[in-house]
Amino acid sequence: MIGFVRKQGHHVAARAFTSTGMPMPSCAPWPLGYIRIPVRAGQCTPWFPAAEDRVMTMQEIAERLCEIQGDRTPYLASFTLIARAAGLSRETVYVAARGEMGDHAQRRIGEVLRRLDACELRFERHGNYWREVEPPPVEGLPRQRCLAKERDFTPWAPCERCQCRDWTPVVLIDKAHGYVCRRCIPADQLPAFGARLRKP
Ligand SMILES: [Zn+2]
Repeated sequence: MIGFVRKQGHHVAARAFTSTGMPMPSCAPWPLGYIRIPVRAGQCTPWFPAAEDRVMTMQEIAERLCEIQGDRTPYLASFTLIARAAGLSRETVYVAARGEMGDHAQRRIGEVLRRLDACELRFERHGNYWREVEPPPVEGLPRQRCLAKERDFTPWAPCERCQCRDWTPVVLIDKAHGYVCRRCIPADQLPAFGARLRKP
């Protein structure tokens, strides 16, 4: 299991944790993709992608839902979409974000969040409606820079810096269409790159 711990203000570093939440020895191998990731100070909360073999705790679920509501996850999601994917009502997800849920809701929401964290599930907008997509396996896909022009862009290819596979469509400074890594360059940092959001 992997978590993020805050290091010196602007950075979080990945740390491996055992299932009881204790840090693992630093010699233990880290899965690909969990390296130092720049985040703004005050925004980093410990991040614990749930292992497949255990149900996320109610507190973990509530924390992740709050991150989703605050748009602080590397992927795009909303309570409506999570409710639909989990086969629950939107109200149930709102209540779960406050840490209150029954066993059934905990299992269903926990599974949806686990799949999101593991990049096994994504939500994509097509015109006026959203649909669930299952990203292809990462094997065989090239790594690409966290800011890619459209002609060089490979959907679902991992970012060479953070391994994240979520890309935001943008208009670049030279008016060309491109994509930026959602984790390396969050939407509110686009102006610093002379880029702006673009409808997919
Ligand atoms: Zn990245």
